[in-house]
Amino acid sequence: MASLFSHPAVPLALGVMLGGKRLPARYWVLGTIASMAPDIDVLAFRFGIPYEAPLGHRGGTHSILFAAILAALFTFREWRHWPQHSVLFLYLFVSALSHPLLDMLTDGGLGIALLYPLSTERFFFPWRPIAVSPIGGAFFSQSGLEVIGSELKWIWLPSVGIAAIWLAMQRLLARSPHARS
Ligand SMILES: [Zn+2]
Repeated sequence: MASLFSHPAVPLALGVMLGGKRLPARYWVLGTIASMAPDIDVLAFRFGIPYEAPLGHRGGTHSILFAAILAALFTFREWRHWPQHSVLFLYLFVSALSHPLLDMLTDGGLGIALLYPLSTERFFFPWRPIAVSPIGGAFFSQSGLEVIGSELKWIWLPSVGIAAIWLAMQRLLARSPHARS
């Protein structure tokens, strides 16, 4: 996994980009939960389910289907509270799906069962720059510090950078004389 501290970078950046009119900031909390939820599968180790099993770590909870179900459940929960259902669903779906996609960029562990239950094959991207986070912590060890540095560089910096560029472009467009015609 990328560490649980870094997965929320995506929903936070997306929330900033969408802005409060499309998605109130209170939903950033749900987006953050959605981005971390796939790693609930580390509990599988406690029940003796091996890493490589379909419901082991990086298995079914790291699939596109899981992201869609989670986003749908959270959207139904908020159905009466926020009328832009499709925006909320897509925001939560992308937040949840960003988790396995980021894990596919990590340089260790087993691959990701992105297509579960259609396939139990585990996938990685061909390019994997993010140092894998040790399961069970050990954050202040040498490898833990390497993980933090790697995630700052490959997750937080691009997320903050993209959100900042997006906001700057929106401000520029809003100031443009053509924006009101
Ligand atoms: Zn994960």
